Amino acid sequence: MVSPSVDVIEKSPERIVVKFNNIPRQYVNSLRRLAISEVPTLSIDDVVMLENSSVMHDEAVAHRLGLIPLRTDPGRFVMPHECDCKSTLGCSKCRVLLVLDSEATDKTKVVTSGELVSEDELVKPVSKDIPIIVLAPNQKLKFEAYARLGTGKDHAKWQPTSAAVVKDGKDENEMILVLESNGALTAEEILVASVEKLASKVKNFKQVTSSLKIPKNA
Ligand SMILES: [Zn+2]
Repeated sequence: MVSPSVDVIEKSPERIVVKFNNIPRQYVNSLRRLAISEVPTLSIDDVVMLENSSVMHDEAVAHRLGLIPLRTDPGRFVMPHECDCKSTLGCSKCRVLLVLDSEATDKTKVVTSGELVSEDELVKPVSKDIPIIVLAPNQKLKFEAYARLGTGKDHAKWQPTSAAVVKDGKDENEMILVLESNGALTAEEILVASVEKLASKVKNFKQVTSSLKIPKNA
């Protein structure tokens, strides 16, 4: 009987590679799926447009804002529907406000994610260079945007991973899990959260099945 083992064989903030030995493939696949669809990140999901004289529609601007990965401090925020504020607007535990106020004066201007001002100093776009819109001279863009926690299950914009794959290892009983981050979380944070999700699902399943009663002579 060979004993199961797991080792991290590569680690950087953007990428983590884990080797599993003698562990059923479906367990490793579960981790991969949970990493993609159930590890929450913050993403802009509500935009109050105050001024938009660009050629881009408000909805298109909002869509683009949703795709900007935001650095997410794990465990600090709660999902909007689980927050005790019970407010549609949200509170400091379930949403972060980011504002932008930009104008092209005499020249065409590319507005980038670096111009977003966050009310929370830790929650910021992972890069300052993501283009949002091009403004022609005298055009303005001004809005308030609300970022909230969500998961890839709800919308792809909340996925923390830019890649998540399971590969065969060198030996027969070896499998490799590769997780790459879009920057909202570190690759390690994604892995840890996936493992916690899997453990809590297994625990719930155990509770349900332990209450299973098999009737006699049904
Ligand atoms: Zn709240």
